[in-house]
Amino acid sequence: MTLQEQYQHLEDTIRAYNPGANFEQIRAAFDFAEAAHAGQLRKDGSPFVTHPLAVAQILAEELHLDSESISAALLHDTIEDTAATHEDIARQFSPTIADLVEGVSKLTRVHYTSKAEEQMENLRKMLMAMAKDIRVILIKISDRLHNMRTMEYQTPEKQKQKSYETMEIYAPIAHRLGMQKMKWELEDLSLKYLDPVGYREITEALEAKAAEYEGFMAAIQDQISGRLTDAGIDGVVYGRLKHPYSIYRKMYTQNKSLTDVFDLIAFRVIVDTLADCYNVLGIIHDLYHPILGRFKDYIGTPKPNMYQSLHTTVVGQNGIPFEVQIRTREMHEVAEYGIAAHWKYKQNGQGAGDEKNYEWVRRLLENQEGADAEDFIHSLKVDMFADEVFVFTPMGDVINLPAGATPIDFAYTIHSAVGNHMVAAKVNGRIVQFDYKLQNGDVVEVETSKSAHGPSRDWIKIAQSSNARSKIRQWFKKERREENIINGKASFDAEIRRCGITVKELTNEENLPLVLKKLSYNCLDDMYAAIGYGGVTALKLVGRLREEINHVLQQHQNAPAQPEQTEQAKPSAQPRRVHGEQGIIVEGLDNCLVKFAKCCTPVPGDEVVGFITRGYGVSVHRADCPNAAPERRRSEEDGRWIKVSWAEKTNPSYQTTLEVLAKDRPELMVDISTVISSTKTQFRGLNARITAEGAVLVTMDVSVADTEQLQAVVRRLTQISGVMQVNRPAG
Ligand code: MN
Repeated sequence: MTLQEQYQHLEDTIRAYNPGANFEQIRAAFDFAEAAHAGQLRKDGSPFVTHPLAVAQILAEELHLDSESISAALLHDTIEDTAATHEDIARQFSPTIADLVEGVSKLTRVHYTSKAEEQMENLRKMLMAMAKDIRVILIKISDRLHNMRTMEYQTPEKQKQKSYETMEIYAPIAHRLGMQKMKWELEDLSLKYLDPVGYREITEALEAKAAEYEGFMAAIQDQISGRLTDAGIDGVVYGRLKHPYSIYRKMYTQNKSLTDVFDLIAFRVIVDTLADCYNVLGIIHDLYHPILGRFKDYIGTPKPNMYQSLHTTVVGQNGIPFEVQIRTREMHEVAEYGIAAHWKYKQNGQGAGDEKNYEWVRRLLENQEGADAEDFIHSLKVDMFADEVFVFTPMGDVINLPAGATPIDFAYTIHSAVGNHMVAAKVNGRIVQFDYKLQNGDVVEVETSKSAHGPSRDWIKIAQSSNARSKIRQWFKKERREENIINGKASFDAEIRRCGITVKELTNEENLPLVLKKLSYNCLDDMYAAIGYGGVTALKLVGRLREEINHVLQQHQNAPAQPEQTEQAKPSAQPRRVHGEQGIIVEGLDNCLVKFAKCCTPVPGDEVVGFITRGYGVSVHRADCPNAAPERRRSEEDGRWIKVSWAEKTNPSYQTTLEVLAKDRPELMVDISTVISSTKTQFRGLNARITAEGAVLVTMDVSVADTEQLQAVVRRLTQISGVMQVNRPAG
């Protein structure tokens, strides 16, 4: 066929279903595309314009689309691949056609790099959300179908990559839109490149069967047709072999060989009325032996994509099983053409009454209620995901955010540490303001710095997600608390020194509970925070502690004279025992079994508490471990929480756990292990995984002597490039 003949064929196809189409516009679109793509060739050597022409042919043939869609299909690659602009097309054709072409170009620009299974649903949603007008999706699917049909001219890598995308993204969208016929073809073509051997095995077997089954299928067809005529039912009956991918999937999901796959043949009976569907079902079950449990009534309960049919599997006289699908003509159109069939009905003013049953279509159409047929086509919008925006991480993962989200929301979705350390944001490679509104398909990159000052207060107003806002608020609360504790501690310390004693003496194991009780604080930090915040003065608190201070001063007098009051030699309420089980001294218990809690892995230098377990001795927790938090303790266990302390002589090493959160980069693990070995530390266990947000979380067990060594390790780890956070997990 010459190019002109191919174009003529397109017009003929359209005329057959839509004699009133705007052929002048369609012709002009074809001429425009031919001129714009002049000189460009496809991989097979044909002029490029044959591609948009073929896409338009698919839209006409498979989906019976309107003139604007056909024109847009002819122009669909002009904005992306030629000098033509949106304005050119809007001026020469119409703004709607220009928008459709622009919409298709936008989808073309999205590149999928992620292969993660859970990302695929997000990618599909992103495409739907980006399309705005459902016709953009229909053109894009037809574009992909033609590219898949001509995939043999591409390199093997491109074949695989495109086939994977098609299988994971476009075929499911076609399915969701109810376009079964296109979905099948997309799946079969993808399979051909994804598993050439499996595909060939199935298609060759089907070809062999086709000959074998030919007579059988004709006989069944005659049989059914005959019974329909006898019953006075007007219906069309035809048989077909199932499509390769549906057989392939059965083989894999049910672990069957090709010969075990149950039914390779399916018959369709298409009748006029819903009542006849059930009549035909009765006839089929009378003629053949139905297989139990294989009957499905998708008429009573349609599939979410509006598919309706009765399915049953029966066994013919010679023992060959086959499936029969029974549906009305209208159901058949919907099954084959999906959403496209649906609006064709609306267009003709028929079949408009049923869509209330189809929840998703209803949502899709909500804004169109009351609009007439013409408006309906023009404004058919994909508004399913209007309140969400889908953007990419630099690694190609899709992040789903509320509409209007900013880089701040993005950063806090990745991790609160990323948000708190954000210093700049890039969208599609360009620096943007933090209040930039993210668009579907944007690639967002956040730059962090360890010296970042943290979020600013206006971020709370800029952020759109409650998640980001609450994380920012948390930061302020926590940050302020830490500052307050430091300041409060300094004032309190100065005030106490003036009385001639040290904070350490006043808050040793013996005195601390008394002090806290008197001042009604849960812990020292709460008290310091209150001072730092200005809620109470250090002077006032010290005033209330007269009694305890005098008590400490008393002890000074009773104690033997000391030449120099160094921190270490200071007398304490109890003489310190040198040895203890595992380096732990349990108050009031000698030689009891001691083990270290796995949740918080304390090391010498950590404040610790003990818990008397049932039968396993004393379990030692860090005092700040959530599992040891006073509010978490059950009252019946009160007596089992006991004081423990580190002995003077501890073991040479203790195992503890660190978590490192870092940006993924080559050699990160090399740098981490260098730090570990250079700090004379040893790995006892190591596990690294990529978080959903694309960062790396390294969990490692290390042996250290005490907190001093541990802090040195943490300091060094924090200095590694890309490391965002180093934590000691607890709880
Ligand atoms: Mn194209």
